[in-house]
Amino acid sequence: MATSAIGTSLVAVGSLHAADVPLAPPDKQPPDLKLPKPVKRKIGYAVVGLGQLAVEEVLPAFGSCESSKLVALVSGHADKAKQLAEVYDVPRGNIFNYDNYDEMASNREIDVVYNILPNSMHAEFTIRAFQAGKHVLCEKPMASNVAECEQMIAAAERAKRKLMIAYRLHYEPFNKKAIELCASEEVGPIKLITASNSQNVEAPNIRLSGELRGGPLGDVGIYCLNAARYLTQREPVEVFGYAHQPADDPRFREVPESVTFVLKFPGGAEAHCSCSFGAAESRFFRVEGKNGVVEMAGAFGYFGQELRLSNEDGSRRFKLKPVDHFAAEMDHFAECILRDKEPRTPGAEGLADMQIIAAIEESIRTGRSTKV
Ligand code: NDP
Repeated sequence: MATSAIGTSLVAVGSLHAADVPLAPPDKQPPDLKLPKPVKRKIGYAVVGLGQLAVEEVLPAFGSCESSKLVALVSGHADKAKQLAEVYDVPRGNIFNYDNYDEMASNREIDVVYNILPNSMHAEFTIRAFQAGKHVLCEKPMASNVAECEQMIAAAERAKRKLMIAYRLHYEPFNKKAIELCASEEVGPIKLITASNSQNVEAPNIRLSGELRGGPLGDVGIYCLNAARYLTQREPVEVFGYAHQPADDPRFREVPESVTFVLKFPGGAEAHCSCSFGAAESRFFRVEGKNGVVEMAGAFGYFGQELRLSNEDGSRRFKLKPVDHFAAEMDHFAECILRDKEPRTPGAEGLADMQIIAAIEESIRTGRSTKV
């Protein structure tokens, strides 16, 4: 029986006296200490091109990685690289530039080169990284054109190294859930997708340069295109594109302001997509299936996805734990290297988008729909 005498030294619970209950752990270790599991080996990354994406998103993301670590930087600006090397504890000897880039070959700490250069430089610096014996994670769009994509894939094969295109949405839970829903009876066969990805781009910006292969289609429209492919799990057979390039806005001397395109899939499903560099931020898709509708607000952003399913059972919003997209994709690639597996978004994924982009651009030129 429990007895108690508050204010005296005798407090007994069950058969145990309070004075017998140990307060501090006897060996000074918290009893519920959760030790992280040892990681076999972390994959070392060299980040190439220290611009907005690298500095604001990718470098901080290493802090959330389990299998990836930052070991080197490549930049045309030595002062910037030195400052970032101090912040991220990268040894001075692991700072490279575009001239001594190939010397990374003899640096054994570097397993992967993460290519975050302007689009027109993706092919050259990816191929040189393979020649230096490194694996490559390359930003989207994969390259300037289909021929370059094919050369990059061939270079990876020759070097026996892996190539992954940084389609971060394949590695985050909301888009993965949307893929699962679209394949289910709850949505049914997909009939129509509407997708849009727009933002205002101010000069100067690599996105406004024809020479650097900017333009809204490869930069933001590619998210709508890639989503249409991953949501349907199909490849379009025919496309139609239309571009708007205003003569009175100097930002759009070299690239269109906006591009609209339609993708026709086997079986009749269609995706209606639009993208712009002259409109307020808007990034969504809406999938209409025979049995239900999947909508995602903020679909293509770094965070803030809102996923909803509506069908005859009602409307449901999904609460999922968000992840850092860049940490998730870098760790996926690291795991592929450690376990010798094919990445979920290999070079072939980037090539497929580039072939469709080429067909959309042909349709824009000719004013006619184009077979893919
Ligand atoms: P920035 O213009 O901000 O950075 C590009 C960097 O490339 C520069 O800072 C510079 O780095 C280097 N560079 C080398 N040569 C040139 C050159 N001739 N002109 C300009 N820059 C040069 O671009 P972003 O970081 O926004 O984009 C880079 C890539 O990342 C693009 O391919 C883009 O599509 C992709 N991206 C992907 C996103 C995603 O969500 N997956 C989001 C944003 C961009 P340094 O000074 O160190 O040499």
